[in-house]
Amino acid sequence: MTAPNSSPQTDWHLKDSQAILSQFNVDPQQGLDTATIEKNRAKYGPNKLDEHQLKSPWLILWEQFTEVMVIVLIVAALISLALGEYKDVIAIMTIVILNAALGFFQEYRAERAMAALQELANPTVRVRRKGKLMDVESWELVPGDIILVEAGSKIPADSRLVEAVNLRAQEASLTGESEPVNKTDDTLTGEHLPVADRSNMIYLGTAVTYGRGTAVVVETGMSTELGRIAELIQNVETDQTPLQKRMDELGRKLAVIALGIVGVVFVVGFIGQEADIQELFLTAIAMAVAAIPEGLPAVVTIALALGAQRMLKREALVRKLPAVETLGSVTVICSDKTGTLTQNQMTVRMLDVVGDTINLSQLKDDGHPAIHKGDKPLDLDKPSQALLLVGGALCNDATLTDDEDSNHTLVTIGDPTEGALLVAAAQFGYWKDDLDQQFPRVAEVPFSSERKRMTTVHKVDQETIAQLEPALASLYEGYSGQYPYAIFTKGAVDGLLDICNRVWADGQVEEMNAEWRQRIEEANRKTAEQGLRVLGLAMRITQELPENNNENEFEQRLVFVGLASMIDPPRPEVKEAVQTCRHAGIRPVMITGDHPLTALAIAHELNITDTDDILTGRELSQMSTQELEDAVETVSVYARVSPEHKLNIVQALQSKGHIVAMTGDGVNDAPALRKSDIGVAMGITGTDVSKEAANMVILDDNFATIVRAVKEGRTIYDNVRKFMKYTMSSNAGEIYVMLFGPFIGLGLPLSAIQILWINLVTDGLPGLALAVEPSESNTMDRPPHPPDESIFARGMGRHILWVGLLMGAVCLLIGRWGLNNNFSDEYWKTLVFTTLTLSQMGHALAVRSGRDSLFTQGLLSNRPLLGAVALTFILQMGVLYVPIMADFFDTLPLQLPHLLLCLIASTVVFWAVEIEKWLIRNGHLNG
Ligand code: ATP
Repeated sequence: MTAPNSSPQTDWHLKDSQAILSQFNVDPQQGLDTATIEKNRAKYGPNKLDEHQLKSPWLILWEQFTEVMVIVLIVAALISLALGEYKDVIAIMTIVILNAALGFFQEYRAERAMAALQELANPTVRVRRKGKLMDVESWELVPGDIILVEAGSKIPADSRLVEAVNLRAQEASLTGESEPVNKTDDTLTGEHLPVADRSNMIYLGTAVTYGRGTAVVVETGMSTELGRIAELIQNVETDQTPLQKRMDELGRKLAVIALGIVGVVFVVGFIGQEADIQELFLTAIAMAVAAIPEGLPAVVTIALALGAQRMLKREALVRKLPAVETLGSVTVICSDKTGTLTQNQMTVRMLDVVGDTINLSQLKDDGHPAIHKGDKPLDLDKPSQALLLVGGALCNDATLTDDEDSNHTLVTIGDPTEGALLVAAAQFGYWKDDLDQQFPRVAEVPFSSERKRMTTVHKVDQETIAQLEPALASLYEGYSGQYPYAIFTKGAVDGLLDICNRVWADGQVEEMNAEWRQRIEEANRKTAEQGLRVLGLAMRITQELPENNNENEFEQRLVFVGLASMIDPPRPEVKEAVQTCRHAGIRPVMITGDHPLTALAIAHELNITDTDDILTGRELSQMSTQELEDAVETVSVYARVSPEHKLNIVQALQSKGHIVAMTGDGVNDAPALRKSDIGVAMGITGTDVSKEAANMVILDDNFATIVRAVKEGRTIYDNVRKFMKYTMSSNAGEIYVMLFGPFIGLGLPLSAIQILWINLVTDGLPGLALAVEPSESNTMDRPPHPPDESIFARGMGRHILWVGLLMGAVCLLIGRWGLNNNFSDEYWKTLVFTTLTLSQMGHALAVRSGRDSLFTQGLLSNRPLLGAVALTFILQMGVLYVPIMADFFDTLPLQLPHLLLCLIASTVVFWAVEIEKWLIRNGHLNG
């Protein structure tokens, strides 16, 4: 009998792992070969869940016609049709169609940009293929692939475990169980085991929280459990951002105001009996359309989406769109040290066994030693040094591989700290591969950033024992000739000393006493002060393995062996990025698991702090919330912290009103990443879990990238403000012309179609071009804007008010001048119409910067805008001089002097805004 929901292919947990391996014809040490991968890909398809449907272009197009304003226009067109006003119908429908085309273009681009980001957010997977370890994108996996997972990995496909070492997985997304469950590589029995109990399987969509494992992929894509329940994992979220929400709200408010104004125009026009009712009705509708900046939400979306795309080119992948805008408000960036501020290119520089140091830099000082398999080993003077190197290589999960591309230099894969130890050991002739064969690993306690150490247990063969006998005898009090297991622990020296009760003093085991402790701590301190990372190694020989594979059983009564110190130079570009932060009113903060003195040395070098103020994890644990809140205002370096301290620091900073960006890479960093305003995960070293919790992933792990992203965030916010400034002043100008026209004897100076035209050509392309304006010269020389700052703050409300009035006044004056010169109504209205359109172009150019003159910015620095302005000018000329268009828009061809007059008049706004910027630059106005 088959259990419901359990077709033959879902019974993988009941099969023996060897049987599954032979079913897929794969050797776990080799992995699949290219031919099989291709064959399986053809058979099973790519490892992808059915895509979240992108909005279809038709849907986007349809939505353009369902916006309120467009519906109003369509109704107006229908009314005109009923009244037989065909010219109006064609005009309005042309405007509707052009407007829709523009809206479609904007939204389609934004949608594509987001889709491209989504694709990139796919995690990579470590697989063994063709006998080598490599990272591939998860869609590339095929059934039969051998994958390696560790704490923080997201499971890329349903797989049967072949090896599980202390493995635990969080399967809430599949089973609802929030506690991590233990995993094994045993074969299970029992027909009806639910997914939650299939402990030898790991499933797509779940994540490893602890330990490591090797597994063979058995189901991919839609055949996985997750695929079967058709749940979708969205990688990039596209919630509305705060700014988008505010824009929507503003749009609604403006709509109400606009309706009021339209009412007034209608009444004024009616009383003045300026036009017939029908014309008045159309004009009122056109004004409503003009007054509402309907392009605003679209521009915010496109500015954010294109900004996210630009950030990607600079190695910052935005996972959640609101992050783009929050970035602009960041006041503190809390950064890990290793790999983010430093290069994470560790090289062992010093070995220290009981006060005897070997300086490796004297032996090889070419930066990162290039080693090859056949190199002649360097000599050591002491067996204890050999023990340190051997222990460091055994208690180690990194691997050395031959890089065919770079002259067979050996490169390390895995944690750089561990890689450095492997390289150091290999330099002296101790190769990890050989050591692993000679001393097979039988148990381990993985590294965690809370414990700051790891332990491995190895079988020791009789031959080695015979060779080492004199030394081993002194290592083990109850020596009886049988020493089957060696336990090695490596990690932070401070914690390690607490679990050592002896020291290996050159073949002699001595009690760990205060004097020894002091000597070791002193050596640790001296090295850390130079900015080196120090790792201690301790060991013990035992005859039997404890029953429980738990850390307390192994990590006790150890014999301290020595210290290995490694250099990890700061990234060269970080110093400047730190400086940029300071100018920009952002405080950089270092949070590291490393030793306080190592942390301080690097922090000083990078100018993160100029004091010796530092807080350690231990001190943080003892502080009250209030004390911590006070401390975070001044302390910029935190050392020996655990992930949970990061959460406390974020909370304390936030309660002090800071907007915090926080980096993280480990599985336990996820809560702090979520809590921070901008969680930043590391693209290279980060675990999948941390990436999923983050708002942004920096692909190069580089602090400087975060700073660049902040700059981009600020630029985007600026650009949205520029667009608002531009479009709202322009709309105000149109309204003033219509509102005040009747009072100076001009009636309603613009026709409905003219208003719609101005609105289309001005809001459309020039507005879009403002969204791609490059950063201003002072973007990173001013403090961050508070996130709750009114969008009209910093002089924007003022700008909209006076520019609108000025624009209106110039146009009305021109109109009045035309009337005084007895020009025909159509002719002077053409003057007003042309001046208004061209004034907006001048304004678009002037508003490109909030403070710099256009002449220092350079006309060519925003070519799309220049193109949009030129195009608008040409179109306007078409409206004046192409008879069929002129007929349509009720214009007359202007004589050259009058056209020139319009041109000159329309520069008034441009010059006035240039003066405003001059006043701002010189501190006479805020802005
Ligand atoms: P951060 O990236 O947060 O700046 P970090 O990477 O230095 O800090 P951890 O990786 O948590 O922080 O390391 C903290 C300490 O743990 C190190 O100072 C070192 O003593 C020890 N340690 C680091 N890696 C290993 C390892 N692979 N095995 C044993 N101990 C380690």
